[in-house]
Amino acid sequence: MNTDQIKKIRADFPILTEKVYNKDLIYFDNAATTQKPRCVVEKIEQSYYHSNANIHRGTHYLSIIATEAHEAARSAVAAFLNAGKREEIVFTRGTTEAINLVATSFGEAFCQAGDEIIISVLEHHSNIVPWQMLCERKKMKLRIIPMNDKGELNLSVYAALLNEKTRLVSVAHVSNVLGTVNPVAEMIQIAHERNIPVLIDGAQAVPHILVDVQALDADFYVFSGHKIYGPTGIGALYGKEKWLNAIPPYQGGGEMIQSVTFEKTTYNELPFKFEAGTPDYIGSTALAEALHYVQEIGIKNIADYEHELLLYATQRMNEIEGMRIIGTADHKSSVISFLVGRIHPYDLGMLLDKLGIATRTGFHCAQPLIDELGIPGTVRISFAFYNTKDEIDTFINALKRVVTMLS
Ligand code: PMP
Repeated sequence: MNTDQIKKIRADFPILTEKVYNKDLIYFDNAATTQKPRCVVEKIEQSYYHSNANIHRGTHYLSIIATEAHEAARSAVAAFLNAGKREEIVFTRGTTEAINLVATSFGEAFCQAGDEIIISVLEHHSNIVPWQMLCERKKMKLRIIPMNDKGELNLSVYAALLNEKTRLVSVAHVSNVLGTVNPVAEMIQIAHERNIPVLIDGAQAVPHILVDVQALDADFYVFSGHKIYGPTGIGALYGKEKWLNAIPPYQGGGEMIQSVTFEKTTYNELPFKFEAGTPDYIGSTALAEALHYVQEIGIKNIADYEHELLLYATQRMNEIEGMRIIGTADHKSSVISFLVGRIHPYDLGMLLDKLGIATRTGFHCAQPLIDELGIPGTVRISFAFYNTKDEIDTFINALKRVVTMLS
């Protein structure tokens, strides 16, 4: 994408013209959440102003159009992930809720004492804790795939960890700390050779990589709307129909039932069986708008441009004495974690903030990974397609200043 295209894109994101401490905002915290284009915010406003009514249950006009919008959003998510059937998409509050749903429902149906779940060393807490809770509940074991110095998973150890006790593998498509793009297609294939299902945490992948759940042959794939320019509080779980049919509902309530008596309840069909209560139909509709926005730009264009930013920033950061980039995998997304000399990441982040640059510091919700690396945390910058090389230059100058002050 050229400078004019980026300029046009930036104009879609009003927040990018905000001032922070009287400085131009440079927003490099996109892995935590992305900013929203005007069309997404306007979609929310339009829905509340013109088509708000509770969905599915109504016979009146507004309820019908709100229902249609929510179900069209489900089709949009299905198309975005290339799911085989729209019924394989369950709306959730986000990645975390989707993983908890699978850990609880799959755990209930298929796991027992002595079984094992495999995750990797570079997982976000959202892809650790739900499995740990399941392991505690059912007296099971969590097995961990290790990585090399570059932050790439060790696939031969992974293959050796799979055994007759393994019930499920759950790994991130892209690490939110290291930026590593894991070879998930290969990992799924290895697990499938033993008929073991795989969940992919796509929170950091969908905004940057073209995802095709059928080509990957993923059993479950989860993501959050707010990381792909959509609203907070909405996300999705893709699950193969055979798995979603085979596992029990996650929560009980309205809409997930077929019939209720005090003696017995029967459950609704997919996907409603997993959507208890009033769904976030405003959020789903706005998420569909965000996906449409991204598709208009084109994920391939986004990936190419963000890769350019990644290479440029990495090269410029390496000009700085004492720079240590944490995560140097051959296949990386636009996330750069770093440390400089012995400076504490929190101090770096705080001073960069005063210069208008939003970075993130700390464990990034991946404390076991940070412990494994033996570091106090990192400063993380993460790019979206609205970021520019000029912003990277400003960041480098600011970083040089800050490092001089703190050294
Ligand atoms: N997994 C990964 C890899 C993430 O980066 C995040 C968000 N930082 C999550 C899971 C959790 O996403 P959410 O908080 O939107 O549920």
